[in-house]
Amino acid sequence: GIDLGTTYSAIAYINEFGKPEIIPNEEQSMITPSVVYFEGSRIIVGEDARNMAVVEPSKVVEYVKRQMGKTRDEWYFEHGGKEYNAAEISSLILSKLKRDAEKTLGVTVRDAVITVPAYFNESQREATVEAGRLAKLNVLRIINEPTAAALAYGVHKIGSNKNVFVFDLGGGTFDVTVMKIEGKHIQMLATNGDHMLGGKDWDDEIIKYVSGQFQTKFGIDPLDDIQAYQDIQSRAVQAKIALSSIPKANIICNYASKSLKIEFTKEILERITANLVDRCKTLVEIVLDEAKLNSSSIDTVLLVGGSTRMPMIKEKLRKLFGKEPDASVNPDECVAIGAAIQGA
Ligand code: ADP
Ligand code: MG
Repeated sequence: GIDLGTTYSAIAYINEFGKPEIIPNEEQSMITPSVVYFEGSRIIVGEDARNMAVVEPSKVVEYVKRQMGKTRDEWYFEHGGKEYNAAEISSLILSKLKRDAEKTLGVTVRDAVITVPAYFNESQREATVEAGRLAKLNVLRIINEPTAAALAYGVHKIGSNKNVFVFDLGGGTFDVTVMKIEGKHIQMLATNGDHMLGGKDWDDEIIKYVSGQFQTKFGIDPLDDIQAYQDIQSRAVQAKIALSSIPKANIICNYASKSLKIEFTKEILERITANLVDRCKTLVEIVLDEAKLNSSSIDTVLLVGGSTRMPMIKEKLRKLFGKEPDASVNPDECVAIGAAIQGA
């Protein structure tokens, strides 16, 4: 089962005990950045590629999922005299997942179920099948991400005749889906999203805050320098992730032989990103309207996407739905897990 994500991808299988399980990549991570770096004739996918994104942006492809299904006139990436379309770039990501899984499991990976957003149209789905084919995978089926999430959480556990709300906040996209579970059947009632809203926007707010503090103190902007920018970016992500489990994290900013230690708290993060949480809330209300349901008729709220680990998101959902959202499955693994269940 493969979650071919905008920012991160993951691969899962059903182990010898019949349990779905994520297969770690060669770097021992459960998820792999969906980033491709062209280093001369070498192609690098994952964490090492992501680290090159700021240094050599012209040789790095990120967020290729946003380009899926586009014609050559609309998008292509050129390197070494060769043109790559989005399916070809995506196939490089799939190839890494396949290769690493084969190393870990010691078997050939042949058949796969790959997930796509519920809103993907026919040509975007076709491009995903093509990416699988180019990676030498036999694509058994393409399934919707919210459906996969529901499978991972356990349709039986959720129960029959239940309304389920899937809240998926990833790295660069936000998707909301309302589904009805009837027996083994999962019916989609409405789906919506903002494909320019995700964890990256939280990162950018922190980066802006840090640069503002630095400017106030020293009168110069560290973001003018690409190296300093990259450094602040990775420290911002670290601080954001830390604040999902602890109330305070220091951010150190070094630039032009000057150093600033910023005491960054959960309260500051929530204040500077309140508008992003509001955008999430608005879309939740819109999709509920489209499904002709109100928040109290939702039986279960499923959390999907790494960014739902942020306490501010869980709090907002608790308020909106009047119940505790279900976070019992790892939010950045559940789509791949669900795909593996479907595959089996
Ligand atoms: P995709 O968009 O590819 O579906 P994911 O669902 O894996 O991506 O989500 C990736 C995002 O989740 C990134 O922005 C990452 O910084 C964020 N994230 C992961 N873990 C945490 C955490 N503990 N706290 C806050 N954000 C997190
Ligand atoms: Mg995702």
